[in-house]
Amino acid sequence: MTTSTRPVRRDTPTVQIGHVPVGSGHPVVVQSMTNTDTADVERTVAQCAELAHAGSELVRITVNNEAAAAAVPEIRERLEAMGVHVPLVGDFHFNGHKLLEKYPACAEALAKFRINPGNVGRGRKRDEQFAKMIEFACRYDKPVRIGVNWGSLDQDLLARMLDANAQSPEPRSLEAVTHDALIESALGSARRAEELGLGHDRIILSCKLSGVQDLIRVYRDLAEQCDYPLHLGLTEAGMGSKGIVASTAALAVLLQEGIGDTIRISLTPEPGGDRTQEVIVAQEILQTMGLRSFTPMVVACPGCGRTSSDYFQRLAGEIQGYLREQMPHWRERYQGVEDMTVAVMGCVVNGPGESKSANIGISLPGSGERPVAPVYEDGRKTVTLKGERIAEEFKALVEAYVKRTFAPRGAEA
Ligand code: SF4
Repeated sequence: MTTSTRPVRRDTPTVQIGHVPVGSGHPVVVQSMTNTDTADVERTVAQCAELAHAGSELVRITVNNEAAAAAVPEIRERLEAMGVHVPLVGDFHFNGHKLLEKYPACAEALAKFRINPGNVGRGRKRDEQFAKMIEFACRYDKPVRIGVNWGSLDQDLLARMLDANAQSPEPRSLEAVTHDALIESALGSARRAEELGLGHDRIILSCKLSGVQDLIRVYRDLAEQCDYPLHLGLTEAGMGSKGIVASTAALAVLLQEGIGDTIRISLTPEPGGDRTQEVIVAQEILQTMGLRSFTPMVVACPGCGRTSSDYFQRLAGEIQGYLREQMPHWRERYQGVEDMTVAVMGCVVNGPGESKSANIGISLPGSGERPVAPVYEDGRKTVTLKGERIAEEFKALVEAYVKRTFAPRGAEA
C-alpha cells in the first residue's frame, strides 16, 4: 500500500531540449550516456537505440575529437530512420569550441551541449573558449547544461576562493570552500553565458560529486541560489548495488525536497554488462517514489522459511521480465497501464492481503499449504490456479486484465 505525499517541485523556467521539456513542473526526465566510441557509428547508434527503448528520454554522447564530431550527423540520421527520436546531447570538453566551429552539422544534429567549465581551458583561454561555446549555442539555438564536476573543478577559481578564505577573520573548512567553488563555477558560468546572449531559459545546471552527503548539501545550496532547472546525478557512483544504493540515497533526498528536473544514474557496468541498467534504476527511483510511472510494478515478498521452494521468486522475476517486455506494446495501446501493480506472494500470511490491494495478484502456496494459488483481481478472488502451468496461466490472466481494464489509446475524450 502506498501513501501520497508528493514533493512540491522548485519553480524554474522550462528548458526545451528537442521535443523534451525540462523543469517548471514537467515530469523529471530520465537521461543516460553511451560508453561507445562515438566515431563508431554502428555501435553508438545501437546503444542510443537500446537506451531510448529502455526509456531514456535524453541520451548523451561524448564529442571528444574530430572523428566523433563528424559521426554525430550520421548517428542522428540513422536513429531517425529507425524511428528513434530521442534527443542527443553532446558532451564537450577541452576542444568543443573547435569541433563546433569545424563541424556545423554536428552542432545542428545535437539537441543540447554539455559544457564543463572546469574543462574548457585555462586562464584567458578558458574565458575565450567558453564564450565561443556559448556563441555556438546561441547561433544554433541550442540549450546548454553547465555541468560542473568535482573531479574537474576549475582550479583557478578554487585557488582564488581559498586565498580569499585564508584572509578571512573566520576561515571556513576546505570542504566548505570547495562546495562554494563548485556552486560559483556553475552560477558564474551561467551569468557569463547570459551576458553573452544565451537565454535564461536555455540553461540547465549540475554540480556533481561522488559523496552522498556532499551532493545533497551542494544541491540544496544551489537550488536556493538560482531558479535554473537542475540535472541530478551522483558522479562515479560505482558498480552494482553500491552504485545503485548511493545514487538512490542521494537523489531520493533531493527529489523529495522538490530539487531535480532531470536525473542520470552513473553506474559502472560489469564488463560487457547492460548499459540500460542505469535507465531502469533511474525509472525505478522515480516510480517507487511515486513521482512518475513507467512500467507496472511487481510487489513481491522477500520469502522466508514459510516457503522453502524458490518457485515464487522465479515467478516474480518471470512476471517482472514479462511486464517489461510487454510495456512497449501496452504503452502504445492502453492508457494508464504503467500504473498497474502486480503482486506475487510466497504464502498465505501476507499473500491474500497484498494480492487484494494490487490490481492483480497471486498468492502461491507456502510449505505445507494446499498446492493451490488463488488469484485476486481488483480486490476479489477470481480463480485458483494449480499444477505445472501456473506461470503461463497467470501471465494470460494479466494480459486479459490489461485488455479489459485499460482504455485503448486514441479513445481519449
Ligand atoms: S508472504 Fe509468506 S513467504 Fe512471503 S515473506 Fe511473508 S510469511 Fe514469508
